Amino acid sequence: MGSIIHPNRGFHGDDIKMSVFTDDLVNFSSVLRMSYNFLAGRDYLKRKKFRERKKLIAITLPFSDLAFAAGGVPVFPIRMEKFKINKYLLMLNSAKGLLGWNLTTRLIEFARQFDFLKIIDTVLEDVIRTINDKYNELFDVGEENGISSDFCYGIKGLYGMHVSKGKNVDATLNITIRCSAYNKYLESLKSLVPKQIWVDIPPREIGNPGKTLEILTKNISNAIEELENITGNVVTDNSLNKQFRIGNQVKRYYKTITYEISASDFYPCNPATFSEILALLGISFQDYNSNAQRYLENISYLVKEMRERIKKGIGMDVSKMPRILLTPIFGGWDPETQEIVYKLGGRVLYADWDILGLLDEIPVSKNSNPVEEYARFLLNATTKGIGCDNNTLTNSYLRIAKKLKVDGVIFNQLFGCHSISNCYPMLKEKIRRTLEIPTTVINFNRIGENVEQIKTRLGAFMEMFP
Ligand code: SF4
Repeated sequence: MGSIIHPNRGFHGDDIKMSVFTDDLVNFSSVLRMSYNFLAGRDYLKRKKFRERKKLIAITLPFSDLAFAAGGVPVFPIRMEKFKINKYLLMLNSAKGLLGWNLTTRLIEFARQFDFLKIIDTVLEDVIRTINDKYNELFDVGEENGISSDFCYGIKGLYGMHVSKGKNVDATLNITIRCSAYNKYLESLKSLVPKQIWVDIPPREIGNPGKTLEILTKNISNAIEELENITGNVVTDNSLNKQFRIGNQVKRYYKTITYEISASDFYPCNPATFSEILALLGISFQDYNSNAQRYLENISYLVKEMRERIKKGIGMDVSKMPRILLTPIFGGWDPETQEIVYKLGGRVLYADWDILGLLDEIPVSKNSNPVEEYARFLLNATTKGIGCDNNTLTNSYLRIAKKLKVDGVIFNQLFGCHSISNCYPMLKEKIRRTLEIPTTVINFNRIGENVEQIKTRLGAFMEMFP
């Protein structure tokens, strides 16, 4: 029968030793690989840039397709930072040449000799904490370097990332969204990275959807031309379609985890670990850890591993734990929230990219025009997603809450966000009328800053579940 997973993940790190049992990670080599690829980005990118003479293209939000299709290396800039890499991950990587990542059981045996078990127990939580510490650090860098204090956490962090490492990239790929603060931030990158490639998404006021699509298609073609000039490669319909195919498969696996696995009454791991996996996917999906094919292999393997564990009954019965959607998180959130909910008997799900339409597939066929298809994808995402009107946005939240069959919704209200954060009253009312499930709101400014208020708020919220 299923292995036992200790329910007491700690809040502060001093009592987290039992957070994830070894067995929980033995078969999760794909997650470990993804974590490693995220954290070891700096060395990987250096190799690409200096040895292979590849061009690094900074991207934010999951807009990496054009850079990949042009033979460039997209990078979510935080990955150029030096991270403290968990010893266990380092060991796995150094042994992989000898044993291969998949032979994890043998590696665990190997690890045992060095008493690495404690490290194994905490590895994923450690990874998330490491990334968060860096986010906070870069948020501070952003503030110290003059970004307006009115901006949201996400924008300040992104600005800080470019202040810190922007000089290492060859260009930024700026895809505008319908959030004026974000577009202002993109403008400000001029002073940090010499080359900017713009894909301007026309405002909806143009009215005629055909015209809007035509303008956007043209804007994308221009951006592709600039990418070609930088990378020295020619972008063909084939190279675009090849990238879209990879992206579509990644999105399918991502949705399988978000919907199919998360709906299961039996999880392949501790629900807090599951939330961490969703969080890791959310962050790394933006640039596919700079290697789309490798990312596809990892995520497909992850789905396989999860299904196998569920089939074998390895994991945890979660049928009695209410499913809680926590959103939006893409502009910043406190991952401690998932721990708090878990301690209070619930399980947290994240689905931001699907809410924003960024997990929609891009049609690929012989007769399609890939540039136009990409334009359609971007238009769709920005008309129903980021920064669009409150009515459309709340409908998107509602649609996903329904699809996920969640028992409750926590809305994460971001300080400084004027595009999304003010839709909570409308969302609350719609959920009350149609889904009749509890909702609550928490406030976020910086990781670690508001934990006490979150605990109090969620304590009352979780009492609403039988
Ligand atoms: S929509 Fe809100 S959270 Fe997103 S970038 Fe704009 S201000 Fe930040």
